[in-house]
Amino acid sequence: MDNGLLVVISGPSGAGKGTLCKRLKSEMKDLKVSVSATTRKPREGEVEGESYFFINEDEFIKKINNDEFLEYACVYGNYYGTPKKEVFKQLEDGNDIILEIDIQGALQVKKNYPIGVFIFILPPSLNELQNRIEGRGTDTKEVILKRMQCAYDELDYAFEYDYVVLNDQVETAVQKIQCIINAEKNRAIRKKAIINKIREV
Ligand code: 5GP
Repeated sequence: MDNGLLVVISGPSGAGKGTLCKRLKSEMKDLKVSVSATTRKPREGEVEGESYFFINEDEFIKKINNDEFLEYACVYGNYYGTPKKEVFKQLEDGNDIILEIDIQGALQVKKNYPIGVFIFILPPSLNELQNRIEGRGTDTKEVILKRMQCAYDELDYAFEYDYVVLNDQVETAVQKIQCIINAEKNRAIRKKAIINKIREV
């Protein structure tokens, strides 16, 4: 069996990555979503083990030292990391898995696992991005300002990715990502197992 596909959805904070991943999860039933560990406090409605694994800084550092993360980053003062073991298990079982992570993390994954598919989510404009972040009502003015400054600089990194998807309308952005995933699943390099199987018969 060929390994599953590792899909990285990344881009500036507030570009709508979370919403797109939720939609992809509900529409592509076979797609697994990686659950990150974070030292951030849970927001209202967030569920342990579903939204994140909420751990403290000592636990996080222990995991870094044990090499348990495929990537990790400090984002706006909190640590976030992708559990390596779980992701590789899914891939080895032939399951496709999606990671919704920040840009620093995506660049680490690209280095460690370059056969992944890297998709940069672009907000329609920086004004719209600010409206979205303010609309969430979860961040202080200081954090919003920091996020906006970062978002401006982060647009440069779009060119490091395989694809850029403009998230002006959720529906069309989801469709575009589904098309990318479906096309990538059919790349010749990912069809070795089926080609060999057909030869056997
Ligand atoms: P939030 O606190 O709003 O849930 O997430 C803040 C940022 O951290 C978002 O850009 C989100 O994509 C990113 N993030 C979430 N999980 C991970 C992870 O495991 N690794 C990295 N590098 N970033 C993450």
